[in-house]
Amino acid sequence: MGRTVYVNGAYLPENQAHVSIFDRGFLMADGVYEVTSVLDGKLVDFDGHVARLARSLSELDIENPLTADELLDIHRELVRLNDVVDGGVYLQITRGAPGDRDFVFPDPEETKPTVVLFTQSKPGLADSPVAKTGIKVISIDDIRWGRRDIKTVQLLYPSMGKMMAKKAGCDDAWMVEDGHVTEGTSNNAYIVKGGKIITRNLSTDILHGITRAAVLAFAREAQMVVEERPFTIQEAQDADEAFITSASMFVMPVVEVDGAAVGTGTPGPVAARLREIYLEESRKAAI
Ligand code: PMP
Repeated sequence: MGRTVYVNGAYLPENQAHVSIFDRGFLMADGVYEVTSVLDGKLVDFDGHVARLARSLSELDIENPLTADELLDIHRELVRLNDVVDGGVYLQITRGAPGDRDFVFPDPEETKPTVVLFTQSKPGLADSPVAKTGIKVISIDDIRWGRRDIKTVQLLYPSMGKMMAKKAGCDDAWMVEDGHVTEGTSNNAYIVKGGKIITRNLSTDILHGITRAAVLAFAREAQMVVEERPFTIQEAQDADEAFITSASMFVMPVVEVDGAAVGTGTPGPVAARLREIYLEESRKAAI
């Protein structure tokens, strides 16, 4: 049995849900998205995702078609209809389907945004065995556009990066610009050196991770030292630990960078502790 998904106000079986071939998300990657994790049937960091969605839309001059309360209702209804215990809700909003292809934005009075949401069930998401062994990353050039703070659906290069990593027998790629790591293909990147957590500062160079914000707040509450600055691949290889964060991976240790073991080559205590705190606090605060 397929999923029930949401398209422009309707809850439909996934095989009956359609969007136009003229949708600007399809023709021009003119759209934004969010992924909110579900743990124990509840939404993790929902307010953060809705706030970032509003910002992404506003930066692209796309009308925000739904209030935070409406979005919460739709997320909850999809989780309920699809019996999701652990997994996530994917949301995408595009500038809509003007009925033809044109570089000029359509009149927002005539063309309304397309809204699509669907669930992804991932039983045992928080108990991933990978968290016990860690992941391996390669470095690749960051050739993405200059507004990575907007969560657009232009995911071709991150997707290619993931394939380059797989080809190299690794799990993910860290992107490098001007000699410094920007972020992972779909996550924020961190190293730990001498007890200090180092991660790139926020700017238009990276996505402002919702998990990043939560994890750094928990780290500071736990009296850990956080330094927000760019770091190099060499620093990562010389670090005591490395890890990534994202809504679907939470905190995930990185044990190898470009073939060099990080620290002992096994997940380190800081990443393990942050994962534990993040999961515990997220479960408590989930709605
Ligand atoms: N950076 C990039 C490029 C991403 O795609 C993601 C995940 N969508 C992240 C960082 C992590 O963001 P979040 O913690 O909000 O999932």
